[in-house]
Amino acid sequence: MAEAIQLKTRGELQAMRAAGRLLADAIAAGRAGVAPGVSTLDVNDVVAGVIAEGGGTSNFLHYGARRDDPGFPATICASVNDEVVHGIPSADRILHDGDLFSIDAGCILDGWHADSAVSVHVGTPPSMDEVDLIAACERAMWVGIAAARPNGRLGDISAAIEQSVAWSSRADGRRYGSVSGYGGHGIGTAMHMAPFVPNQGKRGKGPRLAPGTALAIEPMLTLGRPGTRVLADDWTVVTKDGARAAHWEHSIGIGEDGICVLTAPDGGAAGLLPFGVVPISLD
Ligand code: MG
Ligand code: MG
Repeated sequence: MAEAIQLKTRGELQAMRAAGRLLADAIAAGRAGVAPGVSTLDVNDVVAGVIAEGGGTSNFLHYGARRDDPGFPATICASVNDEVVHGIPSADRILHDGDLFSIDAGCILDGWHADSAVSVHVGTPPSMDEVDLIAACERAMWVGIAAARPNGRLGDISAAIEQSVAWSSRADGRRYGSVSGYGGHGIGTAMHMAPFVPNQGKRGKGPRLAPGTALAIEPMLTLGRPGTRVLADDWTVVTKDGARAAHWEHSIGIGEDGICVLTAPDGGAAGLLPFGVVPISLD
């Protein structure tokens, strides 16, 4: 039997919103520090500083720790160019003009987890391909979020993401690779909980999105094929064909009367506006 989906009370969703706001501030600060000549560890340290100042802790640091294995060594995943996700920040990894940089981070506040990611250009993008890629990935995330409804189905979100990628491929005149095998997840008292949220699926299928459900929604797109491999550091996921990749993620809460984007400063109001969806306020 599948692991049950953790359902939160409204008060618990409010607590998750506080964690989400702190993470939004931290990622915004990290993003603002991105520039040619800056190292990925510099960006990591900015994000870590804001989380600590806000009374939170990192859920990425020591993720996956076991005996004799300290787990993931940093606060953010810093993934550059053909790195899709789970890149390790380093003082030696200097960002250059034209790079595509994905910042994925999470935090825990009062026991509640938040998880969010953005992809940005470092300086001037080398071509419109990269501009379109980042936009298509962000759009797929918002289309997916807009498809989430109280008592809807998980497949509604997955199908919407899949459809958005197909639309963008047609509109942009290129075939985006949609990375499979990785995807979104339930979130709450842990970062990765049931259910897995695939970036492909069928509308009307999958578990019911009962009020109290919280999910991280995270499409990953490439300018080439969707295939990936893991580097020898056992963390960094890169595209097999060396094509560049983008990654966007927000954590959302589903209430009785609608959804709230927990990790967006405005609760998702601007991102959801094109879809006629008005997020609920948990404040
Ligand atoms: Mg993440
Ligand atoms: Mg995630």
